Amino acid sequence: MRKQIVAGNWKMNNDSQQTKDLLTEILTKKPQNTTAKIVVAPTFVNLESAVNKTAGSNVIVAAQNMHQAENGAYTGEVSVSMLKSIKVNTVILGHSERRAYFGETNSLLAEKVNTALKHNLTIIFCFGEELADRQSGNHFNVVESQLKEGLFHISENQWPNVVLAYEPVWAIGTGETASPEQAQEMHNFIRTLIKENVSADVAENTSILYGGSVKPDNAKEIFSKPDVDGGLIGGASLKADDFLAIVNAI
Ligand code: PGA
Repeated sequence: MRKQIVAGNWKMNNDSQQTKDLLTEILTKKPQNTTAKIVVAPTFVNLESAVNKTAGSNVIVAAQNMHQAENGAYTGEVSVSMLKSIKVNTVILGHSERRAYFGETNSLLAEKVNTALKHNLTIIFCFGEELADRQSGNHFNVVESQLKEGLFHISENQWPNVVLAYEPVWAIGTGETASPEQAQEMHNFIRTLIKENVSADVAENTSILYGGSVKPDNAKEIFSKPDVDGGLIGGASLKADDFLAIVNAI
């Protein structure tokens, strides 16, 4: 059975106190769903307090990004060993905002993937087409290149540390969700790609999350699709009630 996962990407939101408050609320209200993995990704400066606060709970803390180099003269960046030293063992890589605003290319992401996996982190690898790609019918090609150039070079035994997050850029923060059918169609395409390029076993066991305007009122339908194993949630993860409602929708 594939793992079901709901991950909250807090992006550049929540200061120190807001981080603690939101976590307190999530931990006290407790999701009823205890089989899904719950992940939250605060900003770097709040990671350590989030790790301390969630210790002993079933909430996993992830970073939103990391640098590909082990260490060195990269002002303003954060390395994999820094994350590990504060017990952060999961990292989101390739979010569309990193790709669009910070120039992260497929080949750069391949390097980040290598560094993260070398140090045994779990990666949530994000990808997805832009609106123009979807409108021109090029969305399958774009997703295929993102996966082949950024991820498929890893070896089969590294795949248990990989979670995929398909996030069509046109659905992120726009209120516009892919329909459950569009999500299923793409997730099925992705699983078939993994089967063809890696193995049937890996295809069957890799969790593929959907992201892009998932809300409490549409989560259940999206999650009901056979190849959708959970969600990566932006806006709706900033309110404990909404986030927990999404977790419980799985
Ligand atoms: P959204 O963001 O839920 O606000 O659309 C999703 C994401 O960026 O991961």
